Amino acid sequence: MGKINYSAMKPVQPARGKVKEEKETLAINGMKGIKHVIAIASGKGGVGKSTVAVNLAVALALEGYKVGLADADIYGPSVPILTGTLEIQPRVDAIDENVQVFEPVEKFGVKWMSIGYFALPGQALIWRGPMASSALKQLLQQTKWGELDFLLIDLPPGTGDIHLSLMQDIPLTGGIVVTTPQQVSVTDVEKCLNMFMHPDLNKRVLGLVENMAWFTPDELPDKKYYIFGKGGAEELAKKYNLPLLAQIPIVLSVCERGDAGIPVANDKNAAGQAFKDLAGKLISLLA
Ligand code: ADP
Repeated sequence: MGKINYSAMKPVQPARGKVKEEKETLAINGMKGIKHVIAIASGKGGVGKSTVAVNLAVALALEGYKVGLADADIYGPSVPILTGTLEIQPRVDAIDENVQVFEPVEKFGVKWMSIGYFALPGQALIWRGPMASSALKQLLQQTKWGELDFLLIDLPPGTGDIHLSLMQDIPLTGGIVVTTPQQVSVTDVEKCLNMFMHPDLNKRVLGLVENMAWFTPDELPDKKYYIFGKGGAEELAKKYNLPLLAQIPIVLSVCERGDAGIPVANDKNAAGQAFKDLAGKLISLLA
C-alpha cells in the first residue's frame, strides 16, 4: 500500500489504484534526516498526552532545536486544534500515481503533521487495526520532515496492535509516558510501560510525565491542592526505575489556550515553566 486511505477525507484525494506491497518500502522515507524519534504515550485518553506533546515540541523549538510532531491519535487527533492549524490543508505532492508526500504545517517553530488535517470536521476516522497502522506509517514516512533533532509522535491512547505495529517499523529512540496521579490512570500506565518493554518492541522508556499533578490558586501561591491524588507517578517511577521527567500542575490557561490553539510553553507561569523544564530534562537525557 502506498497511499493513505481515509474513511473520511477532505477534498485532496490520493490517486486511485492498487499498489504493490514493495511500494511501501520503496516510497520516500521522510524520516531519514531525524535524529531522535520519541513516542508520547498514555495508558488512557484525557490525561493531557496531546497537550504535553504539543507544548514539549514548542519548548524544544524555543531551545533552538529543529522539531516536528506527528499526531497519530486516530481516536482524537487534537493537534490541529491545539496549534490553531485546523483550517490549513497540508500540501500533498504526488511522487507517482500511487505515492504522495505531505508537506508539514509550520507554526510556533515546529513542523506539524496530523491525521486530523485529512479528516472532515466532526467525522470520526473509522479504521480497523492493520489499516490504521499502515496509514499512520505512511503519515510518518511520507511527510517531508527534512532535518530534525526531534520528531515527537502523539500516539493514540492505550496499548494494542496499532501501537506495536507502528513502533516496530520506525526508528524509535524511546517513549515518554504521560499520566495523571489517579490510581486508575497509573494502573493503565503500567500496561503502557509493558508495551514499550514488550519483547517485540523492546524500546527505552525515557521517563514519566505526571500531568494535572496539583492545583495552586492564584490567591494562595504557596498552596498545592492534590485534586487527583498524590505520589502515584513518583511511586511508579521508583518501581520501574524511571525518571519522573515532569510534574505539570493544573493551570486554567493550559486548557483555555489549548482551545484557542496557542500553546502555553512560552508563558511565564507554572505550566510554561514545567514544559520548559521537561524539554531541558529530555535534552540532557539524550545528550
Ligand atoms: P489526551 O491527549 O490525553 O486525550 P488532552 O491533551 O487532549 O488529553 O487534554 C485533555 C483536556 O485537559 C484538554 O481540554 C486540555 O486542555 C486539558 N489539560 C491538559 N493538561 C492540562 C493542565 N495541566 N491544566 C489544565 N488543563 C489541562
